[in-house]
Amino acid sequence: MKVLVINCGSSSVKAAVLDSETGERYAELRVERLGTRECVARDGTEQHSIPEYDHGRALAEFLPKLAKVGPLAVGHRVVHGGECFSTPVQIDDLVEDQLEALSPLAPLHNPANLAGIRAARQCLPDIPHIAVFDTAFHSTLPRRAQYYALPQELSDKHGLRRYGFHGTSHSWVAERAAQFLGDELARLRVITCHLGNGASVCAVEYGRSVETSMGMTPVEGLVMGTRSGDIDPGILIELMRKEGLSVDELDVLLNKNSGLAGLSGVGRDMRDIEERAAQGDDKCRMAIAVSAHRLRKYIGAYAAVMGGVDAIVFTAGIGENSVAMRHRAAGRLSFLGAHLDEEANRNAKVSRSNPVAEISAPHSRVRLLVVATDEAHSIAASTAELLGRDAIAKELIIPVAISGRHIHLTQEAVETLFGPGHTLTPYKALSQPGQFACEERLTIVGPRSQIEKVRVLGPVRPKCQIEISRTDEFKLGIDAPVRNSGDVDNSPGVTLI
Ligand code: ADP
Repeated sequence: MKVLVINCGSSSVKAAVLDSETGERYAELRVERLGTRECVARDGTEQHSIPEYDHGRALAEFLPKLAKVGPLAVGHRVVHGGECFSTPVQIDDLVEDQLEALSPLAPLHNPANLAGIRAARQCLPDIPHIAVFDTAFHSTLPRRAQYYALPQELSDKHGLRRYGFHGTSHSWVAERAAQFLGDELARLRVITCHLGNGASVCAVEYGRSVETSMGMTPVEGLVMGTRSGDIDPGILIELMRKEGLSVDELDVLLNKNSGLAGLSGVGRDMRDIEERAAQGDDKCRMAIAVSAHRLRKYIGAYAAVMGGVDAIVFTAGIGENSVAMRHRAAGRLSFLGAHLDEEANRNAKVSRSNPVAEISAPHSRVRLLVVATDEAHSIAASTAELLGRDAIAKELIIPVAISGRHIHLTQEAVETLFGPGHTLTPYKALSQPGQFACEERLTIVGPRSQIEKVRVLGPVRPKCQIEISRTDEFKLGIDAPVRNSGDVDNSPGVTLI
């Protein structure tokens, strides 16, 4: 299916029409620096200056071009699904309202996602729009990994719990790793390290996320491009007291001025930092050392959380490209059974067309892999899957009804009970075509007690079958199995009078 995937960041839009199965791109759009004079849009090979444009205006202008490629659905990346959304969902006005209500949980991201959704729904009202959530993959976190050790009433009041992010990437690369290893994800314990400008680690235990390093917001965990990751919360109190920092200033400090940028003093780009570190810049060396140490610490911790690990995956800009970061994080893990092959690590190259490279030695029990992430493809695949499931659900309408206790008989049993030549006497037609309740009623006798006046249903069947409730079982004193209709072999017998 051709799917238009839209990812609206706080000051950017990335959109592409792609094949949900192969990931092939048919058209792409990139808008950067929204709301500023330098705002530019690149669509294909063309570049347009669109000063002061916002999400809505940019999408209204450029989406019609993408729509010409003929997408059948739109998949929207939504960062925070809160407690409401643990799977992709088709967007209608109600869902839009629910997303709006979630905005306080992700003030940097969700309002931008929503602006994209609104503009795109207006522009393309005739095709389904699906929201795919960064948090959804982590809805399986056990409670022990969700809770912060804060007073529970306060946590409940404000939704203070760990949600986790980057779910579309973690699930995607874990699945690619399992395919590469020729195994099912449901049989593997995988640690996935998504190391981009935002960075997080995830423990994927037998296909389910059981622990991840980002928490209620994307600030927790690893050292990132400009976010601090884990810090002692006491520092915030100290800074408020000593520097008189306001809430907004703390927000900017933790989200924009910390991480690699804060440590290195030369910006967030790992390529620059590695280059300067190689020239002897001590701050840049420190930035790399702190980031790699934190990552190693998480890898060790997640192996402990899952009681072992079968594969460790590196992905996103730094994970896919930085030989040095992988060396620092995954070298000397032989105590875990993970042996890095230094040469394979140096030579590893991945791309969308060749997404997996192995960097572990042949004798390594734990496999070390570099996997190219493709979040747009992951979102397109989830979108197509949801619509496919919906289409199947719409075609297969299964009526469900509850029946009272009843009895089906063979013609032989009818004659044994009511006399030779007797045929069942219809009393009332039933909702199932051709089926009817009969005038004939019987007493069912079990080892413990009996139930009287149980209706016989017609027409006669090839086998006798008695259908009773669980409480009837207790009353009669028998243990009746749950079975497909007609499968009566080895079920307990009763007497009919
Ligand atoms: P995001 O999608 O989160 O914005 P990316 O996954 O594109 O981020 O990762 C960006 C990071 O990857 C930057 O820090 C960049 O320097 C780093 N990166 C890209 N290529 C290399 C490379 N060859 N060596 C080291 N780091 C790299």
